[in-house]
Amino acid sequence: MTDAIKPQPGILDIALYQGGKAHVAGVQNAVKLSSNENPFGPSDKAKEAFGRTVHSLHRYPNTDHASLRAAIADVHGLDPERVICGVGSDEIITFLCQAYAGPKDEVVFTEHGFLMYRISALAVGATPVEVPERERTTDVDAILAACTRKTKIVFIANPNNPTGTMISLAEVERLAAGLPKQALLVLDGAYAEYVDGYDGGLRLIESRSNVFMTRTFSKIYGLGGLRVGWGYGPRAIVDVLNRIRGPFNLSSTQLETAEAAVRDQDFVEKCRAENARLRHWLSETLSDLGVPSDTSMANFVLARFASDEEAGACDAFLQEQGLIVRRVSGYKLPHCLRITIGDEAACRRVAHAVAQFKGVK
Ligand SMILES: *Cc1c(COP(=O)(O)O)cnc(C)c1O
Repeated sequence: MTDAIKPQPGILDIALYQGGKAHVAGVQNAVKLSSNENPFGPSDKAKEAFGRTVHSLHRYPNTDHASLRAAIADVHGLDPERVICGVGSDEIITFLCQAYAGPKDEVVFTEHGFLMYRISALAVGATPVEVPERERTTDVDAILAACTRKTKIVFIANPNNPTGTMISLAEVERLAAGLPKQALLVLDGAYAEYVDGYDGGLRLIESRSNVFMTRTFSKIYGLGGLRVGWGYGPRAIVDVLNRIRGPFNLSSTQLETAEAAVRDQDFVEKCRAENARLRHWLSETLSDLGVPSDTSMANFVLARFASDEEAGACDAFLQEQGLIVRRVSGYKLPHCLRITIGDEAACRRVAHAVAQFKGVK
């Protein structure tokens, strides 16, 4: 390549995203607890819909996603015209940055926030601005203090990954109300379904013109491999995002499988209840072993160790036992391990292995 051919400013500052590990050398049947996947997989109805799509693969999918948007709107009580679907919520985050941020603009997110916010901001030449959290929790005052005339987007995940903590809707509303008028608040609701009785901030979106929400089929729906997410927000913003969305961004397989999945809320309810039960058990058990965690509202716990070294040693020990969890040094939490809530057997194996590591019988 010649020196004259250069990528846009910002691109070379992007560190490649590292997904959760899936294998350990020499270990068969390792249990993967590193990517916040649903241990139960997707609902049977989603799997059946997936299979049926084989008969129409020669057809182009529809471009307006009307049927999937109607299903999402039905289930959540929303206006289907204000729903947009993408290749994971990652693609919605990308659209938001492409449409609303560019060189000299600032994109704000929190210290332990999702890595995609930084990547998407840099990809459009905008300046990422990272705001400290308070005790691993979003700090509304710190975010408001960090906003300037150049702030175009503020991203918060609620509940947050990898901390598992969340702030109240009253705090989210205070943040939305305090932002400079040119700034859009994006609520990333990837884990919203795990919080009993929480609408992800949907009502707030109905009442404000500066809030947008992203959601995903990758977590509680157990469809991370399918790559479908959606967004909801003011009509004007959805109209803008639809202009940059590729007409065939989602395949018919993606559309039909996601539609069957969202219509099966009994499955979602079952996963939410089982996750809450096992999360409670695992966090209490780890805490009794001297490994505390903040109260998590999502499908993982962030286990805190005494030091970076201890977290690294425990991670290595767990791998020897065939248990793959996530080191979160890239999220500035090198003394922590993020452990996805697996099924009951997986949770028991993790607790047993951590007890052995800690030298407790
Ligand atoms: C997993 C996750 C997502 C989901 O991304 P997809 O592209 O929809 O798979 C979004 N935000 C956060 C904070 C996540 O942890």
